[in-house]
Amino acid sequence: MTDLPPLREVIARHGLSASKALGQNFLFDEQLLDRIAAIPGDLTDKAVLEIGPGPGGLTRALLRAGARVTAIEMDTRCLPALAELSEAFPGQLRVIEGDALKMDHAELMGEPFAVVANLPYNVGTALFTDWLSAEHWPPHWTSLTLMFQQEVAQRIVAKHGSGTYGRLAVLAQWRSSAKLAMKVHRSAFTPPPKVMSAIVHVEPGTMPTGVDPKLLSRVTEAAFGQRRKMLRQSLKGLPGALDALDKVGIEPTRRAETLSVDEFVTLAKTLGG
Ligand code: SAM
Repeated sequence: MTDLPPLREVIARHGLSASKALGQNFLFDEQLLDRIAAIPGDLTDKAVLEIGPGPGGLTRALLRAGARVTAIEMDTRCLPALAELSEAFPGQLRVIEGDALKMDHAELMGEPFAVVANLPYNVGTALFTDWLSAEHWPPHWTSLTLMFQQEVAQRIVAKHGSGTYGRLAVLAQWRSSAKLAMKVHRSAFTPPPKVMSAIVHVEPGTMPTGVDPKLLSRVTEAAFGQRRKMLRQSLKGLPGALDALDKVGIEPTRRAETLSVDEFVTLAKTLGG
């Protein structure tokens, strides 16, 4: 295994104090980082997209696992430290400077890729919903392994009937499987964030036929927009929705959070059909 200097030393040498504005909370525990890099399975020679490598803790773990990593980082202060990693793992790491929110990831990668990232929470959620809303299915990504606030992670994997079940759960589960892979204590980060974190792992599944993703999104938006109301009230503004409820045999007196992901899919399909 390549002998690398401890991450704390790299940070001190390159003056990489964590920037609050960039949502920087770094992970230093190499064992924890290796466990995170193992979540997507064997990465030997696999293409991995890492967004926000920072000083490169998770990047090292991915490289040790044998991945070919493309890392997008917008903080130019981190580039020299990442260049050192490129040298230590020749031909395995490509670093791209810039804002990942403004890039076409499929074009950048040019082959199927796994995503592994510990991102600022707002950036992570924006990218996550983008990746899940991909027009082409199966998408260009083969899996998403992402750190979130624990509360958001729970919303992503929530099942119907629970208070955390909502639009995000339906989006993450209607054509993918989503699981909570690991909880990460706030003390694992430097500086520690205010809340606990958790890693979610998503793999694409089969897309149900005959469902317009935009229509599904409109149904869940209306239903969960008034989640305490009965469906006959919350879906009133959506043309044809009440008839569709009747057709598929969903009681209009039910509330959004009692509908399974499959029921939402059936409803959208009927509404569009
Ligand atoms: N991955 C490192 C780790 O686990 O220690 C750093 C994690 S830190 C929470 C998030 C990183 O994402 C920071 O280095 C930050 O500069 C970078 N970042 C934030 N927004 C970004 C964006 N839109 N595009 C690319 N990188 C971004």
